[in-house]
Amino acid sequence: MVEIAHALDWPLVEGVVSDLDGVVYRGKTAIQDAVETFQVWRAAGIPYCFVTNNSTHSAGDVVAKLNGFGLDVTENNVVTSAVTAAQLIRKSHPAGTRIYVIGAPSLKQAISDAELEITDEKPAVVIMGLDREITHEKLRVAVDAILKGAVLMGTNPDLLLPTPTGFEPGAGAILTAVATAARVKPIIVGKPEVHMIEAALMRLGTDRASTLMIGDQIPTDIQAGKRAGLCSILVTTGVPPVDDPTLQPPDFVISSLKQIPSTR
Ligand SMILES: [Mg+2]
Repeated sequence: MVEIAHALDWPLVEGVVSDLDGVVYRGKTAIQDAVETFQVWRAAGIPYCFVTNNSTHSAGDVVAKLNGFGLDVTENNVVTSAVTAAQLIRKSHPAGTRIYVIGAPSLKQAISDAELEITDEKPAVVIMGLDREITHEKLRVAVDAILKGAVLMGTNPDLLLPTPTGFEPGAGAILTAVATAARVKPIIVGKPEVHMIEAALMRLGTDRASTLMIGDQIPTDIQAGKRAGLCSILVTTGVPPVDDPTLQPPDFVISSLKQIPSTR
């Protein structure tokens, strides 16, 4: 892992793709250095787009939260795993395709908005996000559908989520249960896969070599950024980093977004 060296080592920053939780805020609290840096980029005309594995909030929810912190964003600046999942399904399935959804209302809304039919009858795809009302019956329907030929897709592979008092199982933990029972490998939509990064790049219209990927987690944010060919920056304001030699290291490690040279 490399500490920030000299400003000359940084690429020219034309655009920014960034994670949210642990980078822009922690829970309900803004990380002020990050908010101010994004404000500087906005004033300098450097476009940015946020990518979040969390499928339980809509892009509108994220916009309201960021606006509350003083960040000037619209839904076009936010890529969620729920909306990306719906778009990914539509790439290979026509309107009206039957989808079984395990997840929050925001995931169901994204699937409906993509003109897909939500049903537990003979689905072609089972999509799973974080569902805090998970039941054995939902798991049974999912496993049975997959054994009868449905494709299994997960919004994200996150196993563990921090809570104010400790941790809770993430979407990836329950996804793993279904995948294990049905003996299939799920398609993952969120980071560390590149689907959301590619969606963000399309919106920014910037060259990947001069676009930054900023995140607080090496297994998801940094792997996705590196796989997509972006200069990938770990900021140590979120989840404590894990040292896993099998993972690609970040290009830079910083403790504040203010350490990023932002002139163009
Ligand atoms: Mg994060």
